[in-house]
Amino acid sequence: MLARGAIALVLGLVAAACDGGRSSQNEAGPKPGASAPARGEPSEVSVDDSEPEPEPAPKVDPRGRRWGIVIHGGAGTINPDKLSPEREAEYRAKLRESVDAGYAVLADGGSSLDAVQASILILEDSPLFNAGKGAVFTHDGTNEMDASVMNGQTGQAGAVAGITTIKNPILAARAVMEHSPHVMLAGPGAEQFCRTQGLQEVPPEYFHTERRKKALDRIRARETTELDHGSGDDDSKDEGGKPPDGKFGTVGAVAVDQRGHVAAGTSTGGMTNKRWGRIGDSPVIGAGTFADDDSCAVSATGHGEFFIREAAAHSVCARMQFGKQSLTEAAHAVVFEQLEPIGGSGGVIAITASGERATPFNTPGMYRAHKMSDGTTGVAIWKSDHPREQASETP
Ligand code: ASP
Repeated sequence: MLARGAIALVLGLVAAACDGGRSSQNEAGPKPGASAPARGEPSEVSVDDSEPEPEPAPKVDPRGRRWGIVIHGGAGTINPDKLSPEREAEYRAKLRESVDAGYAVLADGGSSLDAVQASILILEDSPLFNAGKGAVFTHDGTNEMDASVMNGQTGQAGAVAGITTIKNPILAARAVMEHSPHVMLAGPGAEQFCRTQGLQEVPPEYFHTERRKKALDRIRARETTELDHGSGDDDSKDEGGKPPDGKFGTVGAVAVDQRGHVAAGTSTGGMTNKRWGRIGDSPVIGAGTFADDDSCAVSATGHGEFFIREAAAHSVCARMQFGKQSLTEAAHAVVFEQLEPIGGSGGVIAITASGERATPFNTPGMYRAHKMSDGTTGVAIWKSDHPREQASETP
């Protein structure tokens, strides 16, 4: 972390010196879809306005590296008996559409960052997931969204928190990363910045869905705290005063592109009935999202407070980088040895630069899908495959 901080400082100073102090992550970094200076290579910092030559994608990877994408649509108590076949089919189709969109970007030689964005946009635009359209309601009956993105090649990151009028929060997070000198912007200030970037704004009502409103009403009626968050899934039944379905519908994606660069992104409405400007892990770099070509890219979903306290996403990377654990060991240790013992429910998706992937979760289900260049692909929901599960994924 110290080394990375030093590199970031050097990058900032070099960029500031080059442009008279108008430095930003964007000016020191890549344009969308283009090649970028690798971590630790400040000599490649450029303020040239011309489009850099894209790095050619290797036709045949000499190391037999795989590339591909993994996505999630939230973890939680997704009970097979309470999810109607019709609703299940809807979820599966949307996960498939999302993973296909990200994969298409990669297959075309696009960057992992663009792939992650393409997949998340589809999930944000779907009312099925707790991100963008379909975001859960706050205690006050509003929808406040958080999102973040990180480039594993350069270490650049961007995030927004508590925004209410930007149609696609993931684009806002990316704009912060690429067009501001900051990493995280919040609330009205973030929206003001998004306006300068020409991002699409919508009236707050755009995010209202009947299903999420009912969830808020149910939770408020029980006087549960903001952490007692059900999904309000119409297919779920309330049982014994417990949340009908303790599901975290956050969405996220991690990808590795043909050049071996990883990226991660996460987008959420947070937790139903949240109040006092509560922000979860999703926009916190190192908690809900992290990416580093030298270890892996991670996106988390679950009870955010615990993921923040454990620096969950960064912990997966640190275990690999400093503890020499494999991706599977690192991701499982974070979910089952760090989060679970302190009561943190949820899961992570992760991918390495050579295409290993892991999707551990300590809840009964996690909406997820993957598509890799070696032909492996799958859409899955539950821990053990449900009879209706046709996907080939190994959890
Ligand atoms: N992690 C998110 C939060 O705490 C919730 C989720 O994953 O659905 O805001």
